[in-house]
Amino acid sequence: MTLTRRTALSLGASLPFAAALPQAAAAKAEMKGMDIAKSRRVELGEFEVTTLLAGTAARDEPQSIFGMNVSPEEFAKVSEDAFLPTDKVQFFFTPTLINTGSEVILFDTGLNADGITAAVEAAGYTTDQVDKVVITHMHGDHIGGLMGDAGETFKNASYIAGSVEHNHWAKADNDGFKSKVAPLSEKMTMIEDGATVASGITSVSAAGHTPGHMGYMIESNGAQLMLIADLANHPVWSLAKPDWEVRFDMDKAQAAKSRRKVLGMLAADRVPMVGYHMPFPAMGYVAAKDDGFEYVPMSYQMML
Ligand SMILES: [Zn+2]
Repeated sequence: MTLTRRTALSLGASLPFAAALPQAAAAKAEMKGMDIAKSRRVELGEFEVTTLLAGTAARDEPQSIFGMNVSPEEFAKVSEDAFLPTDKVQFFFTPTLINTGSEVILFDTGLNADGITAAVEAAGYTTDQVDKVVITHMHGDHIGGLMGDAGETFKNASYIAGSVEHNHWAKADNDGFKSKVAPLSEKMTMIEDGATVASGITSVSAAGHTPGHMGYMIESNGAQLMLIADLANHPVWSLAKPDWEVRFDMDKAQAAKSRRKVLGMLAADRVPMVGYHMPFPAMGYVAAKDDGFEYVPMSYQMML
């Protein structure tokens, strides 16, 4: 039955309590605006893994960022098929905090010190509890929270970064590196592909987005999860279309190659992932589909 105004009225009239329904004007509460959870915690073996929403913002003209090498018609078709608007995109910035039981390790630090401090505290931790800060790559939205007006954000932490990445930005004339990373370089351990940063946590080289971009494989008691960082930055425009060019990928061909390789591995092994720019809580699975992949957001799998 189609519920027209007439049938709705007649249905209401037939209900004995219809007269007792409150008037719209009686229900007064202030409008609070959009809300979104700021953290999500799951267990992975003996570890606790918490994703932290350190920031989110809308941007215009998404095709100036994703799918730069396809026609506006193709971009529109793929977007509309996935129920996505083509004139706006919502960005998310999601560092991950892992408590291994013996150490608290933070992966990336968001855009600024205030944002990451608020996100860490909202999840029930303090910045002083962070033992290690791991930087996946040195774009501003990942290193921004390392230093603030008050100096070092994570006063008790040591730092870990890829040597290729560090060397690249140290040679470039980059303000972000100079203000956020250079003051901490003395305390920073440089690592290569396949390095163990803590028991069960291993670096996985995935270059292209930046020269030394790295993801991390997390494993505890046989359970696995991969932090893919900026390997793929949109659930449709990067996962379904791994060859679509992304403005922020410094080597676009290499980035696409890394996407296919790592996403293919996650799909084959059915390993869940956290993507730094995926819609919050940024956790999901990857399935092979057509000539690309399908992103399957996590629902309750990791609560069991
Ligand atoms: Zn990023």
